[in-house]
This record gives sequence, C-alpha cells and structure tokens, in this order.
Amino acid sequence: SVMPAILSAVSYCAKRGVLFKSGVALEQVADLQAIAFDKTGTLTQGILDVTDIVVADGYDEGRILQLAASIEALSNHPLAQAILRRAADDLVELLPLTNYQEVTGFGVSAEFEGKLYQAGKAKFITDGDEDIVAKGFTLQSQGKTIVYIGEAGHICGFLALQDEVRQSTKEAIAELRRRKLVPVMLTGDNPHTAASIAEQAGIEEYIAGCLPEDKVEHIKALKEKYHGVAMVGDGINDAPALATATIGVAMGEGSDVALETADMVLMKNDLRRILFTIDTSAKMNRIIK
Ligand code: ADP
Ligand code: MG
Repeated sequence: SVMPAILSAVSYCAKRGVLFKSGVALEQVADLQAIAFDKTGTLTQGILDVTDIVVADGYDEGRILQLAASIEALSNHPLAQAILRRAADDLVELLPLTNYQEVTGFGVSAEFEGKLYQAGKAKFITDGDEDIVAKGFTLQSQGKTIVYIGEAGHICGFLALQDEVRQSTKEAIAELRRRKLVPVMLTGDNPHTAASIAEQAGIEEYIAGCLPEDKVEHIKALKEKYHGVAMVGDGINDAPALATATIGVAMGEGSDVALETADMVLMKNDLRRILFTIDTSAKMNRIIK
C-alpha cells in the first residue's frame, strides 16, 4: 500500500506549515507548470499605508480622510483597514452613514444626509473622465493603489495607498522561474499599479482589472495551455479561482472562504514554502509510483 508514504509526506508538510486537505493534491504539486498569484496579501504584505491624500477644488485633506473612513467603516478589505487605521491615528471623527453596500472588486457606497458617498475605483463613481483621475496615474505607476472618494457621483479627492512586495516573494518567484514554472499575477487593481508590483515581484505576465469571475476565466485559459495550474490567493474574491485551479493554495492569514476552498494552505505567508512542497511531492511520487 502507498498510504503510509502519502500520510507521512502530508504530515511532514504539516509540521513545516503547509497543510493539505488530501494526498491527491500533494501528489499533483510536483506536476505544476504554472502558478497564478493574487496581488494584495499574496505577493504583497497586504498591510497598506496611506501615503498621499489629493483633493478636488473645495475640499481639504481632513474632509477627504473623514469621508473615506466613514464610507469604509464596515469593510474588511485591506484598503479599508489601512484607511481606518490612518483615520484613528489622526483622531478623525466618523460620520454616521447609512445603507452601506460593498461591491466586490469595485468599492463601497453609503448615504449621508440624502447624498450618495462612494469609495473605490474611478469608474465605480463616475463614467466621466474627471481631471483628478489623471493625477492618480503617476502614483499608480509607483505601485500605489488609489481609492477615489465620490460625493453625489463626482470625485472629490483620493487616497493613495502603498503596499510592499515581500522579500520572500521575490526569492520564491526567482526560484520558480529557474525551475521553468511560469508565474502569473491576477489582480483586481488597475494596470499601472499591477505593472509596477509585477515588476517588483519579478513576474512578466499579469492581468489587471480582474473581477472574481475574470480570475476564474484566466485560470481556465491557463489550464488549456499548461498541464497543472495552481492559484494562490487570500481573499473572498479569490475563492472561485482557487476552486477552478488544479490546486488552490490559500495564504494562512487569508479569509475563511479562501481557507475553506483551498486544497493547500500556507500557514506562514511565505511563498518559498511552495518550493519545499514541490520537492516533497516529487520525493513522495518516486516512492509511491
Ligand atoms: P485584489 O485582486 O488586488 O486583491 P480586489 O478584487 O479585492 O483586489 O479589489 C480590486 C480593486 O477594487 C481594488 O484595487 C480597489 O480599487 C477596488 N476596491 C475593492 N474593494 C474596495 C474597498 N472596500 N474600498 C475601496 N476600493 C475597493
Ligand atoms: Mg488579495
């Protein structure tokens, strides 16, 4: 029987912080040809800092931060958490908004004194190209993510937030490429920010502006092209793609939905563990096959 070899390899991985839901998944890891990664919280630390606040005529920074934090008050998104942390540091008083609605991959809206307030992508707020949107491009090409703030359908300012690509990510990607595995980044963020983060991580192929269902479609396309495809992610929005991949990999600090959907969990948010797992899988397969 091959069971003892599989069980011992699964427990070997578990002791080193990589959990498997099945032996089959561990068996398949050695055959992966491409690995898709979510950006925020997967390639990056997912701990963002507000670096810039830019305002439209008639608004000041304090007001934009107050609106941003009030709109994001109920969101668990890493962008929301960063904005709320900054607002707390600056002792900003939150406004009592009502009718909160979060739209996955776009942003959050709420109401105050009969007006609509929004925080998120520019096109979530307005379809007009307002001047202030262009001001965000330079910051985006530095790898920053922009949260636009809307009042009654017009952009009244934005916050730029910076995230760091983990050092362990850079090492993991370089080693994957040495082994001829193809890394791909799938992100809901805009193309400017995506290009900068992909370059910092050492990834050539990236797809920006992905909604959760777009991530699924890209995983399907990768599966047509490559034999085994893993998807690594941390968010609720990654779960459908994790389920579609040959192997879904969740970051240990990720959302519950990602953890439940994944075949493999990296308890420490360190992508180098994927390499160790590939080696363990190959060794196990030599014994059982
Ligand atoms: P990713 O795939 O990079 O993890 P998401 O799908 O969670 O990103 O979000 C994609 C984009 O949608 C974000 O970069 C941001 O522009 C916007 N967005 C999503 N949720 C929020 C939110 N709560 N507040 C502001 N912007 C948001
Ligand atoms: Mg994420």
